[in-house]
Amino acid sequence: MLRGIFEIARGMWLTGKQIFKRRQTYQYPEQKRPVRTRFKGRHELRRYENGLERCIGCALCAAACPADAIFVEASENTDAQRFSPGERYASTYEINMLRCIFCGYCEDACPTQAIVLGDNYELTFTDRSQSIYTREKLLVPVPPGGQPTPQQVEPGTFNRSIPVMKNPE
Ligand code: SF4
Ligand code: SF4
Repeated sequence: MLRGIFEIARGMWLTGKQIFKRRQTYQYPEQKRPVRTRFKGRHELRRYENGLERCIGCALCAAACPADAIFVEASENTDAQRFSPGERYASTYEINMLRCIFCGYCEDACPTQAIVLGDNYELTFTDRSQSIYTREKLLVPVPPGGQPTPQQVEPGTFNRSIPVMKNPE
């Protein structure tokens, strides 16, 4: 009898002391939990400040992908129809999110920092075709002051595929 009362009191104490602890639940989707610094979420295809796409269609990301989730097809840039600096741009860029394991190897392999795994973890789809994230879906919006692609540019302005990079400070 005494033992029973003791066990009930112990249970109530264990439960009751949670009231004074910091709350761990979030009212998702209204309230979103901040992600960790190195979190790897939905991919983005980045642009330069002038709006040109960083992706040059080299397919190094596809070669590095262990899940064979990326498909890239490159086409030629011209100065009248320029999508990215250099000779080529990715006319087709697709990631199959059903295959992706969010390892980030594509980001590491990219020579222009075009493909980046961002903070967005809201990846829902209701059929297999929606799991293919296309170039149009992955491209970030044109930054303020930039122009959408394709751009008409002065001949010879953007000959280098990979911009000159500075050594890290
Ligand atoms: S995060 Fe990994 S698995 Fe996903 S597309 Fe990039 S390289 Fe492939
Ligand atoms: S995202 Fe980067 S690695 Fe992939 S095709 Fe474009 S430039 Fe090349």
